[in-house]
Amino acid sequence: MMEDFFKDKTVLVMGLGRFGGGVDVVKFACKKGAKVIVTDLAKQDALAESIGQLEGLVVEYHLGSHEPADFETADMVVVNPAVPLDNKFVQIALKAGRKITSQIELFFELCPAAIIGVTGANGKSTTTALTAHILRSQSDRHIWLSGNIGNEPMLTIVDKIKPDDLVVLELSSFQIEQLAQSKKATQVALLTNLTLNHLDRYKTFERYCDAKRLIFDNQKLDEKEPAISIFNGEDKVGSEWFEKYGKDAGRLCIKFSPDDIPGEIRAKFGLPGRANLSNLAAAVAVARNFGVTNDEIVNCLSAFKALPHRLQLVAEGRGVKWFNDSKATTPDSAIVALEAFDCPIIIITGGYDKHIPFDEFGRKIAQKAKAAILIGQTAQVIAMNITKHPQNRAKIKFAETLEEAVKSANELAEKGDVVVLSPACASYDMFENYRQRGQQFIDLAGKFAR
Ligand code: ADP
Repeated sequence: MMEDFFKDKTVLVMGLGRFGGGVDVVKFACKKGAKVIVTDLAKQDALAESIGQLEGLVVEYHLGSHEPADFETADMVVVNPAVPLDNKFVQIALKAGRKITSQIELFFELCPAAIIGVTGANGKSTTTALTAHILRSQSDRHIWLSGNIGNEPMLTIVDKIKPDDLVVLELSSFQIEQLAQSKKATQVALLTNLTLNHLDRYKTFERYCDAKRLIFDNQKLDEKEPAISIFNGEDKVGSEWFEKYGKDAGRLCIKFSPDDIPGEIRAKFGLPGRANLSNLAAAVAVARNFGVTNDEIVNCLSAFKALPHRLQLVAEGRGVKWFNDSKATTPDSAIVALEAFDCPIIIITGGYDKHIPFDEFGRKIAQKAKAAILIGQTAQVIAMNITKHPQNRAKIKFAETLEEAVKSANELAEKGDVVVLSPACASYDMFENYRQRGQQFIDLAGKFAR
């Protein structure tokens, strides 16, 4: 039994990270009686928040670099999803015959309940939260919500999950790859959409698709109890995969589209934009599969609010609305923000360079925005992609800091305008993470929007 494996064993946690996954693993391993060593390329300062959450636990820290000896001698190495499988230290551990695992693999090993896995390029968190929210409208089953959304870390809840419960879990492509190593599967797998993302790790779109595909490839085909695979009918890859996987015996494929949402359900939904309707359609498809009725969906839906940092209304003043969309870390999700509003838009955008093309995003800004205030590493390249369009109407400004950007937006904004922080990029060039970026924006917008 994997649980006993921890007792008195040396567990090396590779990559504590700043997103809570590493902290969850360390807490769990300590609780189960392991001797825990944390190793991370980042230094103490960068990890202060995560280390703070582990106060009071007996943990040895080897920070700033990895030591080959740790990997040769640990009984088990728990690898952060951000670490590629061909990492040289993982290889050292493998050669030395050490057991390699991950937070997600441990969770799947120990979780007794059925798991609904939600993946895709965009809309994962919103879809996961919406799915759990709607499933909870039927009170006879306990619904757990976990993944990157945070408040219920996987290993923190795993001992409490009962066999008849249901788990709705957001899964990144990195986590799907880790799961595939152990041939673990979800009963229900849902793909929100697939567009270019993570080119820094996958190099080509095909390789990114290959990683996502594994969630479906590994489902258990069973004619009596079919695997459920759910795809976006408006997405190119989603439609192709619906056809491809639909041929499998022992699998039920379902396709969703905003056009299929009944009017009475749509009327109760408060989130802006068609992309959010697509997320709703996905959640409704899952809920129907578990027998949730239209009435139950209608009754629960108005209580669902935008998740923090996703097109979240954070301030209003002088007739100007300020939206925090810091979680828009890809051009596609920032395009979604531009499409969600029918009034003049001032967009604050730019950030860490993941080498994703900005052609479409530049075109969209040129067509729709009143002004673009550009920040971060990608500022110049985004500017180029806007100004190359002869029809561009957007005023371009550059800002060194978010504060400067917000001040600039405030000067330009007139009654009836929307100011939205929708960066289209990750945040690491200027911030610790998208949450810090979003919080800074909330504070600044609150100060200036008067
Ligand atoms: P993820 O978990 O995949 O990053 P989120 O639900 O956290 O997705 O949303 C992240 C960003 O993507 C937000 O800015 C949001 O407005 C945008 N977004 C949400 N749903 C979709 C969708 N279906 N397609 C494209 N963009 C989306």
